[in-house]
Amino acid sequence: MIQYTLTSTSQSLIIPYTKFLTVISKSTNSNKDNKNCDCQKPETCPMDRNCNVESIIYQAEVTSQTTRETYTGLCDTPFKLRYRNHTSSFHNERYRNATELSKHVWNLKDQNIHYNIKWHKIKQARSYSNVSKQCNLCLGEKYFILSKPEMPSLNNQNKLTNCKCRAADILGNFVEKLSLN
Ligand SMILES: [Zn+2]
Ligand SMILES: [Zn+2]
Repeated sequence: MIQYTLTSTSQSLIIPYTKFLTVISKSTNSNKDNKNCDCQKPETCPMDRNCNVESIIYQAEVTSQTTRETYTGLCDTPFKLRYRNHTSSFHNERYRNATELSKHVWNLKDQNIHYNIKWHKIKQARSYSNVSKQCNLCLGEKYFILSKPEMPSLNNQNKLTNCKCRAADILGNFVEKLSLN
């Protein structure tokens, strides 16, 4: 009788564990071939399995039960890095004033309002290039903020900064030259 109990218990443990292993290996393998996303759980990717996309203008849509606000931003790095910075500014009060987006999120948090954020790509564009001498990424961001005011409700139009990609490009070339010499 005792032996029977032990066997049935150990079997009932073994089966779910094997199933568990199958699920784990499936979820880690399923995303292996997708260079655009390396999220452990692709279904929770913030950019619909495209989080490694670079040089984009993106939009964040923040909704609560009664409000809907949007924010437009750009990144010349993979989106995922920018996303991480945004997320840490929502969790770390020190960065509550980092962007108009984090200010809004903290405003909701202060009032205990439950919110949801959706991210999506508006446009991919080339950042500053030495050849064209212009930054289509920053020009694009300005275009979407200034000429489509119905799109980003959170961005402060008076706070549009000049292109920083150019400085990054010049610095990048400088570092490259240094390492070649
Ligand atoms: Zn992803
Ligand atoms: Zn730029």
